[in-house]
Amino acid sequence: MSYNISITKVKESKVKDLDFNNIPLGTTFTDHMFICDFANGEWVNPRIVPMGMIPTHPAAMALHYGQAIFEGMKAYKDAKGEPMLFRPEQNAKRLNKSADRMGMPHFPEDVFVEGVKQLVDLEHNWIPPKDGSALYLRPFMYADEPFIGMRAATRFKFIIMASPAGPLFSKPIKLWAEKQYIRAANGGTGEAKAAGNYAAAIRPTELAKAKGYDQVLWLDAAKHKYIQEVGTMNIFFKINGEFITPKLDGSVLHGITRKSVIHLLKDKGFKVTERLITLQEIKEASKNGTLEEAFGTGTAVGIAYIQEIGMEGETIHVSDESPVGEDINNTLNAIKTGKQDDKFGWMIKTRKELA
Ligand SMILES: *Cc1c(COP(=O)(O)O)cnc(C)c1O
Repeated sequence: MSYNISITKVKESKVKDLDFNNIPLGTTFTDHMFICDFANGEWVNPRIVPMGMIPTHPAAMALHYGQAIFEGMKAYKDAKGEPMLFRPEQNAKRLNKSADRMGMPHFPEDVFVEGVKQLVDLEHNWIPPKDGSALYLRPFMYADEPFIGMRAATRFKFIIMASPAGPLFSKPIKLWAEKQYIRAANGGTGEAKAAGNYAAAIRPTELAKAKGYDQVLWLDAAKHKYIQEVGTMNIFFKINGEFITPKLDGSVLHGITRKSVIHLLKDKGFKVTERLITLQEIKEASKNGTLEEAFGTGTAVGIAYIQEIGMEGETIHVSDESPVGEDINNTLNAIKTGKQDDKFGWMIKTRKELA
């Protein structure tokens, strides 16, 4: 495909209507979006256009058969106000892994990164300046071919939207260990960032919230014994000085924050083990005092400290503090906002002349 991204700008930006001290979460979108169409076996017409409605045929296959995948990432500003992205090539790669599982075409990784860069550069005024806030980016792909029948679609759209967010502060959370419903089984779509995974999680999450919990702690599908992950986050436990996180066994989302946190923990001298962990083990570690802290990791909040895990008939007290989690969160935020040396080469500037 041609990598020449055409740009149609709005006449007047709506950014002046946004109160940066009070950003409504998830409902504010920037002036523009990036779109690219897949037809006749190729991606064509990459373009940045004013944000707006997209006419959709009622038979669009994504609406019926769920061929829809997405990504989540953020743009930050450094001290000089230069927009920066955190490991965007990782999101491009993961989108294509999700596409593989869902029978969807790859989107060229370089065009993904270039599209994100150009959109962020154009919308740089929308990146909230306050610490802890960012411009959330939502790249996604869905089948928009009108067809009734069971086969892979042949027409897709790839879109990137941007939505200012934050500041989001990590508050301690309570998890509900779910033993009735499951998120992902081996051989299923748990590794894909697929819309359908969320569809299946909504009802259990609502039920957990009604019981006073913040998120669901997902357990393995076969035995409800092994810990997988949390709502939209991967999970880490510190037991006896060592960090343990569930291994990527096919049913756990490959979090980019997870991967980065493993790197940072090791860099700070901690031992990190990726392996199967049972809920029972966490229960025992809590009882005998070796469970030191636990946290969830994801792009949306960074790191969320876990205070408590509830389940039918009992509650595991985790910890009221998460000193290492807090330190890692501060380090990650400092790297993302250019306050700390980017020694792993994770940050990408969006301005051509600086990249
Ligand atoms: C996106 C996501 C995560 C976190 O991934 P990051 O790349 O760290 O944002 C974790 N679990 C699920 C189910 C997700 O969809």
